Amino acid sequence: MSATRYESLSSNPLATPLHQLRGVGPRIAEKLSKMGLSDIESALYSLPLRYEDRRNIRKISQLHEQGIQVFTGKILAAGESNTVRQRRKIYEVVISDGTGKLCLKWFHYRKPLMQKKFVVGQQAVFIGEPKRFGAVREVHHPDVQFLAPGQAISDLTSADPLSYGCYLPVYALTEGLHQKTARKIWRKVVEGFAPLASSPLPEDIRQRQGLLPISRALQLAHWPSAETPVEQLEAGTDLARRSLVFDEFFFLELGLALRRQGIALEEGFSFTVAHRYTAPLAKMLPYRLTDAQRRVLNEIKQDMMASRPMNRLLQGDVGSGKTIVALMSSLIAIENHTQVAVVAPTEILAEQHFLQFQPWLEQLGLKVVYLSGSTTARDKKSVLRQISAGEADMVVGTHAVLQQGVNFHKLGLGIIDEQHRFGVRQRAALRKKGTHPDLLVMTATPIPRSLALTVYGDLSLSIIDELPPGRTPIKTRVLSDQDRIKAYRHIHAELSRGQQAYIVYPLVEETEKSDLLAASEGFDYLRQEVFPDFQLGLLHGRLKSEEKEQLMRAFKAGNIQLLIATTVIEVGIDVPNASVMMVEHAERFGLAQLHQLRGRVGRGAAASCCLLIRSQRCTEEGRQRLAVMAESNDGFRIAEADLAIRGPGEVLGTRQSGLPDFRVANLLSDGRILEEARQEAFRLVENNHFIDDPRYDELRQELKMRWGGRLELASLG
Ligand code: ADP
Ligand code: MG
Repeated sequence: MSATRYESLSSNPLATPLHQLRGVGPRIAEKLSKMGLSDIESALYSLPLRYEDRRNIRKISQLHEQGIQVFTGKILAAGESNTVRQRRKIYEVVISDGTGKLCLKWFHYRKPLMQKKFVVGQQAVFIGEPKRFGAVREVHHPDVQFLAPGQAISDLTSADPLSYGCYLPVYALTEGLHQKTARKIWRKVVEGFAPLASSPLPEDIRQRQGLLPISRALQLAHWPSAETPVEQLEAGTDLARRSLVFDEFFFLELGLALRRQGIALEEGFSFTVAHRYTAPLAKMLPYRLTDAQRRVLNEIKQDMMASRPMNRLLQGDVGSGKTIVALMSSLIAIENHTQVAVVAPTEILAEQHFLQFQPWLEQLGLKVVYLSGSTTARDKKSVLRQISAGEADMVVGTHAVLQQGVNFHKLGLGIIDEQHRFGVRQRAALRKKGTHPDLLVMTATPIPRSLALTVYGDLSLSIIDELPPGRTPIKTRVLSDQDRIKAYRHIHAELSRGQQAYIVYPLVEETEKSDLLAASEGFDYLRQEVFPDFQLGLLHGRLKSEEKEQLMRAFKAGNIQLLIATTVIEVGIDVPNASVMMVEHAERFGLAQLHQLRGRVGRGAAASCCLLIRSQRCTEEGRQRLAVMAESNDGFRIAEADLAIRGPGEVLGTRQSGLPDFRVANLLSDGRILEEARQEAFRLVENNHFIDDPRYDELRQELKMRWGGRLELASLG
């Protein structure tokens, strides 16, 4: 089939709708479109799930139970028999090739036809998937090609080169779309259009990386050559796939490299550091900074002193002490007569930061203001005035800080806490509040490196890899519904010793009534029946912010010993005296979320524990996930497990993160290729005048197309 037929239909033949392909009727087209395949290009980049190895005819003794294989044999016996238990008839054929015997079975058949076809002594070629049942191996419903008298096997196989002597692709299917049809369609797509696919990946990079041109890579990814080692195809490391994955990652990283360079080219503040406020603050602190905190602070300081704007991600496990690093960095900006904005994802967290910072800043003679969605109109007016007049040295708040109408006198540093709850757009919004301010974003989600490179690829990375001293590791136990009483007993004992505790109920949506009911009913029961001697508080998202604040204050002050809460306490809350975290319906939480929750305890010297209650309806997968929590305190391991189970979109919230969907690449397994692509992309941008060199016209066009609106690169033109 020739592709030219389609060229008149569209300027880009790869954009041809699939239903215009001969052999694809409206019915099939609809099924394909349900699978997200609408045009030629989407089909081209939709690679086979796996391959059938039909390169060799196997001896019966060499057959294995992994996948479809080709074998031959002579028919020794054939006939109908009954299954013992289900009085159902089956047709059985026993064959041998001299190395062993094999039983073939049919459960649906027409008897006269079978009797006519399967004659003892006949030779045939079979295609099927051997399965083991106890000691015997069987093949159900194999494909059969009988040899004519005198016909050699090689005559038959060489007459059908699309079925024998090669790898066959196995495509993802949908109901009503058969593998044979799928193969036919993809064969047409690949033969007709793969030669037209191209990529403006620079030739020197392609050669240095030893990659195939895209058109060749596409052809081979669908129909691998018989020389390709089967292990490579199984692991997805064959050159064809590698070439496609590299291409995909390269454009992603190129965009990130440009975004980073775009910022680096700007003229930012060159702060000087005389430790005017940081030195006195260090004296006020009740502890010494850890080595990791010092190292990270130093990295931040170097960035702030440099003339290009800082764009840094601070990553540290829950409880590693990021907040004080943020405050110290703020003081450097303030010492240089600029303002600081600190933005947190929830009101409670923002308030906590504010309450923690205020006394210190006051002692240093500095002014900090608070701004959130629930700030009253009158307060807001005065706060906005203090920000724009430069009277406020720091503003702490929620998303409200990013809104229009908040104008800074001179913003020097923007800080975003729990960055994984925000997106690229919030970062950009904060940056726009000043003239090229420094930016520090913090996260406790220890994302795997491959994911960090994609989502935060335009940021430099600082890691606090050490917890403050004196912490005892948190013990985690998974308990069944019936063991809840044990958990209560433990909490009771801890409260009696003067410790505090949390009990968390899941809340999928803050508006979901049933969940709120569960938490408040639980609250009444616990207060009256289980912990009548203690003060309990109920914290949930529907409370007014003053009420929340009051509750948190009371809990921090120890006036409330047991806090019953929905997940609004998830991020950042800091009460070192709390030593038990109990989570109801633990299987309904993501692992990263559970890790965050667990991080609310173990912040003081007391031994802490986390009790995860598994409900009866918990699935096997749910049990496995909870087992990961019990096994590991390592945020990285947990993040990897979460990523493997839920996928990157879920873990980070795809829309929020601006993470692209990959057509071919897999973030978890293709991490090595990602790093190589990143190096090449960053090198290209650093060593060339990429933005206006005509050599890269095509590359820039492609980049714009692939990134759509997400690049925020005015400079690309
Ligand atoms: P996170 O990194 O999760 O935001 P925080 O900044 O809230 O952690 O710090 C957790 C707790 O550790 C706080 O109570 C904080 O006061 C305390 N902390 C921070 N740094 C140190 C340190 N160097 N030594 C002892 N305690 C510290
Ligand atoms: Mg924090």
